[in-house]
Amino acid sequence: MSAKIIDGKAIAARVREQVALEVEELVRETGRRPGLATVLVGDDPGSAVYVAGKQRACQEVGMQAFDRRLEADSSAERVAEELHALNADEAVSGVLLQLPLPGELDGAELTSLISPAKDVDGLTPVNVGLLSIGRDGLRPCTPLGVMELLRDTGVELEGAEAVVVGRSNLFGKPMAQLLLAANATVTSCHSRTRDLRAVCARADVLIAAVGRPRLIARDFVAPGAVVIDVGMNRLTPEEAGNKSGLVGDVDFAAVSEVASAITPVPGGVGPMTIALLLRNTLSAARSQAQLATPLAGAARAAG
Ligand code: NAP
Repeated sequence: MSAKIIDGKAIAARVREQVALEVEELVRETGRRPGLATVLVGDDPGSAVYVAGKQRACQEVGMQAFDRRLEADSSAERVAEELHALNADEAVSGVLLQLPLPGELDGAELTSLISPAKDVDGLTPVNVGLLSIGRDGLRPCTPLGVMELLRDTGVELEGAEAVVVGRSNLFGKPMAQLLLAANATVTSCHSRTRDLRAVCARADVLIAAVGRPRLIARDFVAPGAVVIDVGMNRLTPEEAGNKSGLVGDVDFAAVSEVASAITPVPGGVGPMTIALLLRNTLSAARSQAQLATPLAGAARAAG
């Protein structure tokens, strides 16, 4: 068998096109243009590249982009002050604190200061709690991106055995909860899982987010399974066997001989994260517009 390659670049481009259309619709309806603020503390080159990508993506879909930069030696109070100012700014629909933070700054603690209504990364305790009890809220972008890939590929989740390898707050835990909410039977694996190979081999849908190059070998995968590779591991181009030097957590060449569908690295999950960040910013802007004009919101709901 040779697996269908799930083209994350193309699916992400469709999400972005749809967001761009809906941004203009919202501007026509409310007179307000959604805006995303990124906060970058320090000058880590990798983080700066991510932030620049998010800024550019916002502009491409017609959103305002606010780029806040703070010195690497900023105090927690200074970062908090910036986040409070963005929470209060009506032009800002979404706030994103780029992680990791330098030095002693506590990323989780500072992220929790973002207003839940503007928490477009879905990482504040309020949004984490809303996901866990199945109520509406902003969800983390990468797991949402994986759900969109599965939906676009036509993967049936109801009753399926889904195995998620990795249990980080950023990805593994919210991924497992989104799959559970879609009525899959979910198993979460981690570094202490006994016989990872056997657990993975039960999966109809196998999702790997570990950070170990090619950990998931061919015999971890049941024939016909759908495999989603979230891992992004940087090797030399020679080690990786490609120009970018990026490899996933799945042995792509071997696993694509047994899986029914698989995401490549790069070009699979990666492009979805920014696309879903844009969609989250649009959702946040919509909710804020309804709160700001309750009568307009009620009329829309009734109509
Ligand atoms: P993380 O916080 O380091 O978590 C890694 C998880 O993998 C942990 O739960 C850890 O278990 C588990 N693990 C480590 N070694 C293992 C092993 N040998 N067997 C089974 N489980 C093992 O990483 P993360 O933030 O979730 O990211 C994971 C990967 O996804 C990274 O490569 C990252 O770059 C990538 N990623 C990509 C995107 C994207 O946009 N495409 C977004 C987020 C993450 P313990 O909990 O027991 O330590």
